[in-house]
Amino acid sequence: MSKRDPYEVLGVGKNASAEEIKKAYRKLAIKYHPDKNPGDNTAEEKFKEAAVAYEILSDPEKKAKYDRFGHAGPGMGGPGGFGGGMSMDDIFSQFGDIFGDAFGGAFGGFGGGGGFGRSRGRRVVKGSNLRVRLKLDLAEIANGVEKKIKVNKLVRAEGAEYGTCATCGGSGQVARVQSTFLGQMQTVSTCPACGGIGQTVSKRGTGGDEHGLKREERVVEIKIPAGVEEGMQLNISGMGNEAPAGGVPGDLLVVIEEEPHEHLKRDGMHLHHEAYISVVDAALGGSIEVPLVKGRAKVKVEPGTQSGRVMRLKGKGLPDVHGRGTGDLFVHLAVWTPTDLSKEEKKALEDLRESPGFQPKPSGKDKGFFEKVKDMFGN
Ligand SMILES: [Zn+2]
Repeated sequence: MSKRDPYEVLGVGKNASAEEIKKAYRKLAIKYHPDKNPGDNTAEEKFKEAAVAYEILSDPEKKAKYDRFGHAGPGMGGPGGFGGGMSMDDIFSQFGDIFGDAFGGAFGGFGGGGGFGRSRGRRVVKGSNLRVRLKLDLAEIANGVEKKIKVNKLVRAEGAEYGTCATCGGSGQVARVQSTFLGQMQTVSTCPACGGIGQTVSKRGTGGDEHGLKREERVVEIKIPAGVEEGMQLNISGMGNEAPAGGVPGDLLVVIEEEPHEHLKRDGMHLHHEAYISVVDAALGGSIEVPLVKGRAKVKVEPGTQSGRVMRLKGKGLPDVHGRGTGDLFVHLAVWTPTDLSKEEKKALEDLRESPGFQPKPSGKDKGFFEKVKDMFGN
């Protein structure tokens, strides 16, 4: 590549301001852009030349050096310097600076100011999430529980090593300039070689895959809050699959499965239990035992209790998972009609058949079962 005077290349005077230099370069970059001049080697040379000139004149330190020493200055022309060390990618990466102001925030890829650099846009890669199902019984749900669970997860293989990605030079992205109806636009896309991480695996490590990861069984201790419900998903941040270099681990998603209870049915915070009482208890009153999540409770049955009556045991339900109170236990009473009576029992009942006290006399307050339930939840 020729080493023309950068002021001459850009067509600006020695006293040109930064803005004038930028403007001059922008004009040339558009004019000689390879997309506009396909197959034209002269245009490509001019395009590169303009980029090199701009690279020097846009950097106060390099500009000062050039002003003093010309192309022979330290770091100017030698191998790796500006003489031929600028790749097309380097040039395109300048464009965020050059065209960034013009396009403003309308195109997310550009960002404002001179911030388009090597470190910008590198993706922090997150390991994938792990999903496990966890079966809990009602007692565990009522109190919350700590569980140790085995997960088969991706972890860094021992001895795995990572190095800067050769394709993107560690930036995690590759840039390309396209002609659109809006003019020249730079599109930045994720580096296909490293997936945007900026690093690739140099050593896979023991048993490691192409990402330097391997699957291993690990025991994870998790704390389940009280009040969780079937189908609920807890996200435990950072306990999922590990990521390759520079990344952060994914999350562990714990999906709750609720083991059905033998005697208690759940409805959100509330529990329901169906209890049978004898005809005698229903008529004369008595007491029954009802199961709780933990232990049992003795409950009084009023004389003259009808089938379908519901008793509410305050606070004997489940805690709300967000700490907003505790539910109740509803005991639904059903009068057990005897089915297997002895001769004597039958005789005793037969004597009562025509007895006035045994004739049904439902009053307004003896509502049917379904109406009562509706009352309870409707208010
Ligand atoms: Zn890369």
